[in-house]
Amino acid sequence: MKQLFTSLLELFYPSSCEGCGGSLVKGEELICTKCRYDIPKTNYNGEEENPVEQIFWGRVRLHSATAYCFYMKTGIVKKLLHSLKYKSKPEIGILLGNFLGTSIHQKPKFESIDYIIPLPLHKKREHQRGYNQSQMLALGINEIIDKKLDNNTLYRSVETKTQTKKKRYERWENVNEIFKLTDEKKFEGKHILLIDDVLTTGATLEAAAHTLGKVKDIKISIAVFAYTKS
Ligand SMILES: [Zn+2]
Repeated sequence: MKQLFTSLLELFYPSSCEGCGGSLVKGEELICTKCRYDIPKTNYNGEEENPVEQIFWGRVRLHSATAYCFYMKTGIVKKLLHSLKYKSKPEIGILLGNFLGTSIHQKPKFESIDYIIPLPLHKKREHQRGYNQSQMLALGINEIIDKKLDNNTLYRSVETKTQTKKKRYERWENVNEIFKLTDEKKFEGKHILLIDDVLTTGATLEAAAHTLGKVKDIKISIAVFAYTKS
């Protein structure tokens, strides 16, 4: 019944592409084939010493880091992430998570992952948005690589103000102690995959990795959907 209703609905109101606004054809989900193709992929696929790994060199010890695509000031990636964050479209996050998950699936550096952890938002902000966009990505990744998802052991204890206008050092100070763990033992000897939507300076991910890094014998990897090349 529900399926019939959906088909009827689509007949009268064909769903449109989240990237270009064009109509989707049968078999396309949220994004049309052309937009999907046009996403500027990094093709790092979790390769060693890729530019995303290099961002964290000398800052925090990681097992690996990767990004699915480049973030540009204009274009499809910006549009998709904007809809994910501000237009109440969590389903976009799951689809983008599928893309990211596929890019690291069965890659040697990511095979030993135990837990997928979305970068936490402060509860207040999550409540305003209705969901955490990184958690949607994590759900999408989990559909592909099938590891345990954990979204309540690492949490954000301080709400940070908007970071865009601050200098790098101030940003670092601002985020350095904002993450905490409810249970350190849980991650002892485990390999954690931290997930975020966009990587720019890496300060927030660094802060989270810094907190996780205090756990004994932990291995930390990072996967982001998009990365701003400097
Ligand atoms: Zn499109």
